[in-house]
Amino acid sequence: METVKLSPRGYCHGVVNAVNTISNLIEKSTEKNITILGMVIHNKQIVSYFENEGIKTLSSESKSRLELLDEIDDGIVVFTAHGVSPKVRQKAKDKGLEIIDTTCDDVLKSQNLIIKLLEKDYKIIYIGKHNHPESEAAKGIDDKVHVVETIEEVISLNLKSRNIAVTNQTTMSLYDIYNITEEIKKIYPDIYFVDEVCNATRIRQEAIKNQSKTIEHCFIVGDKLSNNSSKLREVSINESHIPSTLIESVEDIDIEMLKQFKKVSVSSGASTPTKITNEVIQFLEKFDSTDLSTHNNESQLTTQTIITKKTL
Ligand code: SF4
Repeated sequence: METVKLSPRGYCHGVVNAVNTISNLIEKSTEKNITILGMVIHNKQIVSYFENEGIKTLSSESKSRLELLDEIDDGIVVFTAHGVSPKVRQKAKDKGLEIIDTTCDDVLKSQNLIIKLLEKDYKIIYIGKHNHPESEAAKGIDDKVHVVETIEEVISLNLKSRNIAVTNQTTMSLYDIYNITEEIKKIYPDIYFVDEVCNATRIRQEAIKNQSKTIEHCFIVGDKLSNNSSKLREVSINESHIPSTLIESVEDIDIEMLKQFKKVSVSSGASTPTKITNEVIQFLEKFDSTDLSTHNNESQLTTQTIITKKTL
């Protein structure tokens, strides 16, 4: 099958840094307990690889990172690429924990922007996903940071201040941000807007938006928990008008659906291991709807083979 490999795809620099930093900790074989505060990245294989290496991941849908810290009594705490709020940082210090911080530079830049705007007495409308760790960290900076996902939420904010700044989570859809910001301007015409979509997210989305109209279906390889992966799928559907499916591995490909296509494309989220994407590409390239021997989509990868330094 004709398979267009959209580029860039896969790991971004923030994910590479986080995974490498934790891999280096494993190599040092410290006696201390190591706990990652939240999923290191939104990818189950990587989380389970680190668990097998004795590194605990503390994650909960109902508890914030500040609350989760109560469950760590000693050793090393790892902050993930999504970043943490100043309160979390301080609490970890107060508990005497050794901190390994893998917060992505792009997230730090966005947090510093919020801090500077607050110092100038702005109230912040932060376009982001509720309960996403990056939004949680931004919200944790100050009560004047308001996370919104929809325009309805903007309306119900009812902010009285004249000093309103709008910014966003780094992995949001460029196109959603544009639409929501335009709506915000109708309510608050004098907003100060700073687009903080990271470059890694931006160029992946633009590659998908500009893919050829001759492509019949776009496969996004990524974890269902990965916000940037699900946004890539939305960009394909809403901006390039090409149907798209989010798949976690080659095994998620629907063979009956695939038989309808002659030309497909593949991209992957910033937290998707390269080997998983490559296995998808190889399967699609070999696929021939009339040749049953090319229809077996059982993955040959194991967690151990997925996570090797060579794949980063
Ligand atoms: S997606 Fe962007 S902000 Fe998030 S870790 Fe990667 S480069 Fe950093």
